[in-house]
Formats: sequence, C-alpha cells, structure tokens
Amino acid sequence: MYPEATGVGTESEGPSSGDAPRPGEPLFADLLAYTTEILSFYDRDFCLTHYAAKLKGVYGGAVVPGAAVWEIYPSFLDAKYRDEFLRVFHGGSPASIDLPPSPDESPRSAFVFATANGVGIIESRERDGRSVVEEQEHVILLHQATHDVLTGLQNRRRFGDRLQRAMAALGGSKPKTALLQIDLDDFKAVNDTLGHGAGDTLLQLAAGRIRDALQDGESAYRYAGDEFAVIQLGKEQPAEAERLAGSLVDAFKNPFVINGIPVFVGSSIGIAFGPEHGTDGEQLMKAADIALYAAKTDGRGCARTFNRSMLLLLEQRENLRRSLRTALARGELYLEYQPLIRPPSSVIGFEALLRWRHPEVGIIPPNVFIPIAEADGLMDDIGRWVLEEACRQAMRWPSSLTVAVNLSPAQFLSGSLTDTVAQIIDAVGIDADRLELEITETVLLEQTIDNIDTLNTLNVLGIRISLDDFGTYYSSLSYLKNFPFDTLKIDQYFIADLDTDLKSQTIVRSIMNLAHGLGINVTAEGVETSAQARWLIKENCDCLQGNFLGRPLGVEAVSDFIRRSPLRVVRAMERSNRAL
Ligand code: C2E
Ligand code: MG
Ligand code: MG
Repeated sequence: MYPEATGVGTESEGPSSGDAPRPGEPLFADLLAYTTEILSFYDRDFCLTHYAAKLKGVYGGAVVPGAAVWEIYPSFLDAKYRDEFLRVFHGGSPASIDLPPSPDESPRSAFVFATANGVGIIESRERDGRSVVEEQEHVILLHQATHDVLTGLQNRRRFGDRLQRAMAALGGSKPKTALLQIDLDDFKAVNDTLGHGAGDTLLQLAAGRIRDALQDGESAYRYAGDEFAVIQLGKEQPAEAERLAGSLVDAFKNPFVINGIPVFVGSSIGIAFGPEHGTDGEQLMKAADIALYAAKTDGRGCARTFNRSMLLLLEQRENLRRSLRTALARGELYLEYQPLIRPPSSVIGFEALLRWRHPEVGIIPPNVFIPIAEADGLMDDIGRWVLEEACRQAMRWPSSLTVAVNLSPAQFLSGSLTDTVAQIIDAVGIDADRLELEITETVLLEQTIDNIDTLNTLNVLGIRISLDDFGTYYSSLSYLKNFPFDTLKIDQYFIADLDTDLKSQTIVRSIMNLAHGLGINVTAEGVETSAQARWLIKENCDCLQGNFLGRPLGVEAVSDFIRRSPLRVVRAMERSNRAL
C-alpha cells in the first residue's frame, strides 16, 4: 500500500532527500523526525508505513516497511486487546491499551489513535522522567502545530517553511522547484447553500483526492479556506508539474457525494517554477497565484503555468473591476433579447441577455463581468435594473409576448427578491404572467424552506419560473418534484451534437418525457442548425431558442423581428424541411 515506507530517525535530513516527501509521508514526517517515542503508523491493511527510529531499536528485525501490526505487537491478535484496537482502527476515539509486560518486564501500554490512512501507535514504557501522558501530548502537539486539523494535510505554517527551504536550496544545476496552487471551483456555493458542515466534508474529501494523486517527491498542504498547494521537488520540469496538474484536475471530475447529494466541484490550478518565476517563496507564491487566476478566467477546471503576459491580464481585470462599479450609473449596461420560438413558427417571447459596452474595451459578455459583479456585491443593483428594464421593454411589445430574465444566485438568496419583483411589476404595470424568471440549479442545492417559499411566492404572484441550463450541474430530479417550475431549459451542451450523437438524443428525449409527465414545458437552448431544429420539433419540444432561429437582438431590432418573424421562422423551417 505504501511501499516507500521509511524509518526516519536514523536518516540524515539533507535538503534534497529529507525534504522530498513521499506518498503518505507528509502527515507524520515531523513526528518521525523529532520524536524519541516508540511511534509507528499503519495503513488500512494493518501494514507498517512509517516509524520512528526507536521502534527499530526496540523490535529490531520485525520492523520492516509493510510488516503487519501483529508482527510487532502480537497482542493485537489476542481478543482481549484486539477488540479495542479495532474499535479505534474503525475511527473510534483514541485509547490507551495496557499490553502484557515486555521481555524486560517493564509494564507498557499502547496509545492507539486513528489517522487519515489507518492508525498510529505510541508505545509507552514505565520509566523515570516525563509521564506517559506528557509524552503523548508532546507528540500530538507537534503534529497539531504543523498540520491542519480538518484535512490532516500539512498546514500553512509548514508550507511557508518548506517552500522557503526549497527555494534556499535552489541554484546551480539543482532541479527546479514547482509550486502548484489549487483552488476549488464553486466551493463558496456549496458552503453557502449546503452549510458549513457540508463545506468541511467537501474539504476533507478534496484533500483525500489531492493526497491520492501524489507521487514520490510531492507534498500537499492546505493553505487557507479552499486553497491547497503542492510542492514538487527534484523532478523533470515542466513535464512533471503538468502531469501532476492534469491528474489533479481529473481527480475532481467526478462528483463528491455529500449528505447523499452529488456535488460537482472542479479544481483550478496555477503553476510556477523556482527560480525562473521567483527566487524566494513569496515571489513564487505570487506567480502561482497569478497563474491560478488565469486558470479561473480561462473557464476553470484547468491548469495554467505562469507567464509574464498574465500580469497584463491581471491588470486588465483590476481595471474592469474598477470601471464596473460605475458602469450602471454611466448607462454602459444594456440588454439584448433573444427570441423564443414555439414550433412551427410563433414567437412567444424573448430572453433578456445583459451586455456591457465598455468605453475602451468594447462589448463585454455577461460570463466575463457577472462573476466580478457577484464577487463585488454589485449584482443586486444590476439585477434589479435588468428586471425593470426588461419589463419596460416588454410593455412595448404585443401583450401576448413574454420576457425571460436571468437571476443570479446572489439575487435569489438575498431575501428581498419577491418584494423587489412585486414592486417592479407594479411600477411598470406589466401582467405578472408575461414575466418569466430563469434560475440555475446552483441556487437550489439545498431545499430550504426559504427557497421553496421564494419560488412559491413568485408562483402565487403569477410569475413563471424556468430552470436554466438543465443537465450541466446536478440535474437532481427532486428539484423537479419539489419546486414549481413552468419550464425546463435543456443546456446547449446536449443540443450541440444532437444530430449526430445518439446518447445526446436519448438524454434529450428522456428529459422531455420526464418534464412533460410532470406538466413542465421544455425549451431547447442553443439550437444552431436546421437538423437540430427538425429533430426537436419531431420529438415535440415545446420551445426552441438559438442562433438558427434568431440571435440576441438590440431593442430596435426586436420590433422589426416581431413584425417579420412569422415569415422569417417559416422560411427557416422551410429551408430545414427541404434539407430533409
Ligand atoms: P443563458 O441564460 O443560458 O443564456 C443563453 C446563452 O446562450 C446566451 O449567452 C446566448 O447568447 C447564448 N446562445 C443563444 N443561442 C445560441 C446558439 O445558437 N449557440 C451558442 N453557442 N450560443 C447561443 P450570453 O448572452 O453570453 O449569456 C451567457 C450567460 O450569462 C447566460 O446564459 C446567463 O446565465 C448569464 N446572463 C446573461 N444575462 C444575464 C442577466 O441579466 N443576469 C444574470 N444573472 N445572468 C445573465
Ligand atoms: Mg437563461
Ligand atoms: Mg441557459
């Protein structure tokens, strides 16, 4: 299980050998290096993984990596001692187990405690000097000072220390040091919606996945909140850092199951090399951090290596952030409207899509600036403006047409959403049933009474609610049962290859059957080709949206579209039929 198991006490701790942690080693390296205790660690197969030099001194030849715990402590085969040992092994609280006297007749006991990988044993013998309890406390304090209690990984202090030492040892022909900063994507959403207990569980599971991805010469740290780091020493670079980053990104592709709920949380990674990108720890961390930021803005769930042009990117973002604060007041935000088409050819409404016309940069899409606005607490004001502006525009359209408005999680969770919506429809004078609000699953992770209340109140007001981007996140069917949705919007991810991919066809068909069975309408997003439109119409999709039927339009173009739309859409459909 841990074939590289090492006895540490007698080995020298030179910067290249002692500093290069081995799999599983980061947890206990300190203890093994400093303690004079008879200390040993075992994995889940009861095999010896790590031990202090003293253990070897006492038990001699029996002490080899991989030896079974009962080869060193035969008493644990005896039912009298075994049950208590197994209780701790299975995660129970630590216990001090009195063992039969050793050959030299001194009474002894084993303090057994569970670890992330199995168990640890501190054997105590009665002798002069410090009491047994003091010794145990000493060992545990040492561990606590350098390790994170929640995840068992080494902590920030230890990280700073190790990085500094690694940087100091660099130079000449020595191989480079790689620093990988890892940040969990969407951790905040999990913490906010599922609660801190779930957040803690997620961090523990995430730490486990990081630990499992490590090889020789790699050590992991929990640096802060949801930020982790890995230091890689003595490796062929950049190849090895890129390989590790790839396996870390992959390790986060499967959902974490927390309280029975599958939660998708990816990881973004920034890589920097010493001495190339920094000659001391602080510089290297800054470089890795900038690379991490680039990974986040490149769509998350990916790794990026630092390069100087990233500094420019960072500066641009800071500029954007500053100008976003005044964008609303300066009238730089505006809406486009994308038609929603009911087959074969009726326009039933439009979805309002937010844009920012930046005076120097030009038009910035919502995916770029909405996350910044959310992080800076600007989305409440912007969201309110979008809602009012969209309703006012809709009042200029024929009264049969609806307007769909996207809500960001921050707006939904703010607590004042229903009041704001009620005030706006009142002030504008629009019929509530012409307004449709689009939410994504992220805001519904937890079926709190508040969430259900909010949606029910909106429902009672007569407002329609759609579940946006369905299929990309959790796709929990319980949402469909417990929340009053009018429409489910299938994400363009499934629509894009609909004409060629049988799996996408099966998924889309099943989602439509399910929704229809529950009395929910289905809109297909991102319809780009006639073949996709044809397939969807044949399968009874209620509504289509996408560039094939109409791109997002400026306000003036909307009236024109409404006037000409039946003809336009019929023509598009005819074209698609001809292609049949
Ligand atoms: P969404 O709500 O899923 O909106 C649909 C997105 O797909 C829009 O991107 C739209 O322009 C794009 N799209 C439509 N048809 C096609 C097609 O045929 N092919 C392709 N490739 N794309 C198509 P857009 O406008 O960039 O908006 C992106 C996302 O930003 C929206 O996704 C929505 O989640 C968010 N968003 C937009 N406006 C607002 C807003 O006012 N408030 C909030 N909170 N979020 C908004
Ligand atoms: Mg939408
Ligand atoms: Mg969508």
